[in-house]
Amino acid sequence: MSRIFNFSAGPATLPQPVLEAVAAEMLDFDGLGMGIMEMSHRDKPFMQVAAEAEADLRALMNIPANYKVLFLQGGATAQFSFIPMNLLAGKASADYVVTGDWGKKAAKAAKSFCSVNLAATSEASKFTTIPDRAEWKLNPDAAYCHITPNETIHGVEFLDTPDVGNVPLVGDFSSTILSRPVDVSKYGLIYAGSQKNIGPAGLTIVIVRDDLIGTVVDGLPPIFNYAEQAANESMLNTPPTFAWYMAGKVFKCLLANGGLEAMAAVNQRKAAKLYAYLDGQDFYTNPVDKACRSWMNIPFTLANAELDADFLKGAKAAGLNGLKGHRAVGGMRASVYNAMPEAGVDALLDYMKQFVVQHG
Ligand SMILES: *Cc1c(COP(=O)(O)O)cnc(C)c1O
Repeated sequence: MSRIFNFSAGPATLPQPVLEAVAAEMLDFDGLGMGIMEMSHRDKPFMQVAAEAEADLRALMNIPANYKVLFLQGGATAQFSFIPMNLLAGKASADYVVTGDWGKKAAKAAKSFCSVNLAATSEASKFTTIPDRAEWKLNPDAAYCHITPNETIHGVEFLDTPDVGNVPLVGDFSSTILSRPVDVSKYGLIYAGSQKNIGPAGLTIVIVRDDLIGTVVDGLPPIFNYAEQAANESMLNTPPTFAWYMAGKVFKCLLANGGLEAMAAVNQRKAAKLYAYLDGQDFYTNPVDKACRSWMNIPFTLANAELDADFLKGAKAAGLNGLKGHRAVGGMRASVYNAMPEAGVDALLDYMKQFVVQHG
């Protein structure tokens, strides 16, 4: 077996020790003679796995006791609608700060439920920056203010949490959750699909302050209702048990490796290496404002786009996969989530330099 370095934006690379531990337990979990996938979600061993995953996530992120942690389905995309359905609580409007395509999609979905105030957008700069906080046009009566802390496609990340006053801040953390510490108490709600920085696809984590839930739009099915899910430990119906279990393994792995501060140090170093190289020559370019460059998704273009196909072909031959950029941006994108080892970034840099020697 030889593992490649997988730079895919998601589903994405997973920590090898986690994959090995899961493989070892695949046929026989904890001496029970069956795998976790084959077990009822109501059985005690799975309930234990589920509870530990929540406790470990709470420890990792230092989640205050007045926040619920939900393990849901439907991806971040379903949350684009569930958030207004659950958080409007009778209010007519919500604020959206749009710094990329995901935020734009979230705002569009919310329009079915409320009036959407586009408080700020960096679309005019092709989402290469974050509008100055001083220029945001926030509505003090908004039910919440939605941001996308890391725009996966454009590689734009909030490196600080913006202050939006008393209006609850909602963050789509799909591609940055667990990459560095975050002060959960500054948010009303944090959500993330699992398939980038947590585990396999199929699970969506929602962390929500408990006073914000319970008043929902008329006719909302209980399965979409955060308060109902919280009261039923996210088991109103069969949850994605395998993804939940694997997420739990990832949480334990992160805790054993020094938690989010340790992850932040490595992630910052990995990103800094790539940006330093990108800025130091002119064969490759990253267009993002230096103040908000993502630690997780690093897009870059070749000065001569006709070389893109050769670049990708050579990368694949060198064991570097998933580098093709999103069609909205073109060029390349290196996604360097927690599970991408520093050696993967070094191998990518070696390849990029060698490609310049051959084609520059
Ligand atoms: C990937 C991604 C999504 C979409 O996630 P799904 O799980 O496919 O719905 C939404 N927001 C961000 C920031 C993402 O990176």
